[in-house]
Amino acid sequence: MNNQKKILILGGGFGGVYSLINLHKKFHKNKNVKITLISKKNYFLFTPLLHEFSTGGISIDNLIEPIREIVKCCDYDFIHNEVKLIDLEKRKIHINNHILDYDYLIIALGSTTNFYNLPGAEKYSLTLKNIDDAIKLKNRIIENFEKSSIYKDEEEIKKMLTFVIVGGGATGVELSAEMSDYFFQTFSKIYPKELIEKTEIYLIEKGKELIPQFHQKLREKVREVLEKKKVKVLLEKGCLEIGEDYVKLDNNQIIKTKNIIWTAGVKPNLVEIIGNFDKDKRGAIITNEYLQISNYPEVFVIGDCSCFYQKEKPLPQLAQVAVSQANNVAYNIYAIINKKYLKKFIYKHKGDLLSLGKLYAVGEIKNIVIAGWWVWLLWKLVYLSKMISWRDRIKTLIDWIFNIFSPRDISEI
Ligand SMILES: Cc1cc2nc3c(=O)[nH]c(=O)nc-3n(C[C@H](O)[C@H](O)[C@H](O)COP(=O)(O)OP(=O)(O)OC[C@H]3O[C@@H](n4cnc5c(N)ncnc54)[C@H](O)[C@@H]3O)c2cc1C
Repeated sequence: MNNQKKILILGGGFGGVYSLINLHKKFHKNKNVKITLISKKNYFLFTPLLHEFSTGGISIDNLIEPIREIVKCCDYDFIHNEVKLIDLEKRKIHINNHILDYDYLIIALGSTTNFYNLPGAEKYSLTLKNIDDAIKLKNRIIENFEKSSIYKDEEEIKKMLTFVIVGGGATGVELSAEMSDYFFQTFSKIYPKELIEKTEIYLIEKGKELIPQFHQKLREKVREVLEKKKVKVLLEKGCLEIGEDYVKLDNNQIIKTKNIIWTAGVKPNLVEIIGNFDKDKRGAIITNEYLQISNYPEVFVIGDCSCFYQKEKPLPQLAQVAVSQANNVAYNIYAIINKKYLKKFIYKHKGDLLSLGKLYAVGEIKNIVIAGWWVWLLWKLVYLSKMISWRDRIKTLIDWIFNIFSPRDISEI
């Protein structure tokens, strides 16, 4: 069909998959539109619960959804491949051994860990961005407890049982709380008492406070809860250097450890792009009010690799933002094709929820601070509702119910 419009989506994460879902709703059974999604993984990953897998709370397969199964009723293409080059001038996308063209393009390639060029950080830290990272972290935790139970060298044991999380944002906070439950509630029933007594968790934050985007009351509450959970929170401590078995802080304190987990930031994950466009200082592509690249109105950029200014501030790298942008972009592509007016993107933040281990969570919804077991329940319900399939929702719910009454999973993967 000659006048068939080709829509290409790059990336199978929150931005890409929700663009696909929304476009599919708009162009259901429409043969004049061909939608294609390209991603280097053949599954969608529900990142907000990755830390729960690494600490034995849920199975990894609860968090993934094969992209080919997400939209079943219409014919769209999925290409399991890596994007190498985007040529905005010629409207071409280069993947391995193949070049594709498009009428409309959505770039949603996400982000990668930012180590800020800190010496040793990339080489010696564990990260938590994808499945491989989450598996490595879980295996490292278990391996070090196992080794510690047979080693004799006290100094080595101490290093293996010291866990240092760098970055006091939401991921670092949630991970440290889950680790505390894993060590002091599950491992304490399995490993010798002397090992549990030697176990330490540090959460290091360069700024004055943890989770700075949250309300002051909430930040104080979070810190109090973490300290009760035996997490040592070190504020206003930047990392100077990371080695194989140490972290050096900017007050010259050295923490000996074999486990450094870096959750201190992300940067846009973009490939080579030919074209004329602006980037912000992190390297994210700046978009206009319709989420387009101004010089290429047929190209939209969303999620972590984009920079959208609202009230002169860039939006944060959140799944909430990517999903909301995906909705707007699908509408705007539909509007262009149907010669209607485009809709300006306005982000409405729905609130923040933060789980702090078993049966406790905190949050902020419409400037109201909430905390307690019922917030934990609300947190669980919200996250379940955000999962893509009923299969993943049900499996996760079952895992969570089991966790209330029984120890978490301690098997390596
Ligand atoms: C541990 C963790 C917890 C988080 N918790 C929350 C939370 O509670 N709430 C929240 O709102 N946000 C949370 N986030 C942030 C959220 O995951 C991101 O903001 C969101 O995933 C951004 O969506 P995206 O589509 O831009 O990128 P992604 O979801 O990362 O998707 C990028 C996609 O592009 C693909 N890709 C990358 N490069 C290429 C290439 N060259 N070729 C082909 N495909 C490629 C990737 O495989 C991936 O499928 C969390 C993130 C992490 C890591």
